[in-house]
Amino acid sequence: MIEITNKIYAFPGRKFDCYSYLILEEIPFLVDPGTGMFFSELANELSRAGHPPHKIGAVVNTHCHYDHAGADHFFQCPVYAKEPDLTAICHGNEYTLAEHFNAEFKPVKAEPIPEEFYGRKVIATPGHTQGSISLYKNKVLVSGDTLFPEGVGRTDLPGGNEQALQQSLKLLKSLDFNVLLSGHGIFNKNLL
Ligand SMILES: [Zn+2]
Repeated sequence: MIEITNKIYAFPGRKFDCYSYLILEEIPFLVDPGTGMFFSELANELSRAGHPPHKIGAVVNTHCHYDHAGADHFFQCPVYAKEPDLTAICHGNEYTLAEHFNAEFKPVKAEPIPEEFYGRKVIATPGHTQGSISLYKNKVLVSGDTLFPEGVGRTDLPGGNEQALQQSLKLLKSLDFNVLLSGHGIFNKNLL
């Protein structure tokens, strides 16, 4: 567990898992719980942070890929995503890429994420997947698999679109951020 601010905690993923982020607002919510293959480890870390899984108020998926959304079904709280990734999460279709991980996606009843989520701006950043989103507030950007500290998201997977990704990257790079919390790594200008 890495404390980013007193309201944001990062949980680096194990093996194929993405990074998960616990964000404390009016409710504690979790961005991208990972594959679920290491759910008990994540659950222990969340408990140590004072927010065990049953006390998480919402799960937000930056996109539908299995390494980000596979663990959604472990949570009883509402799950949010953006269409068409939302449909993939609700049905467990091929866009989740679960087969690439030799796994089966356990669908959950997800809901459309509003344009603002507990004070964070929800930005549509299609390209890596069509329904990819980023979250932005107070110079902190949560970018899913759109933008990484070193590199950008793949567009060669089902639902990927290179032109859309370039547009999304342009948009993200126009934002003023010091902390980048990506799906597979962190960049923190405050620590330089
Ligand atoms: Zn992905």
